[in-house]
Amino acid sequence: MLRKLRDTALKAVEFVGDKYVEGHEKEVNARKSIVRDLLEREGLSCKECSGLGIPIYTTENKYRCVKCDHQFASTNHNIRTLILQHFEGRPRNRHKNESSAVAIYSSVASSMSKG
Ligand SMILES: [Zn+2]
Repeated sequence: MLRKLRDTALKAVEFVGDKYVEGHEKEVNARKSIVRDLLEREGLSCKECSGLGIPIYTTENKYRCVKCDHQFASTNHNIRTLILQHFEGRPRNRHKNESSAVAIYSSVASSMSKG
């Protein structure tokens, strides 16, 4: 009896875990596609190869070409602010949002560079 209860409880936890992972994945993918759109919208054409120069998160006016890796300075972008605005949740979570924004930016930027 006790064993049966425990097995049922374990299954329930596994189920909740799967749902959580699934939900989390959807959330991350949604955020990635938002960031990708922002990078494409805010990006500029590379002068070396006319590939897409995407704004560099930690800078105010620097871009990096996803095709040839050329870096250049141009008009100011607000990529950090734009991304954070999209991710803004509860104000108490600001720090969490920032590290999540950086992680998602890095992942999207590197996937764009490969493709
Ligand atoms: Zn280029």
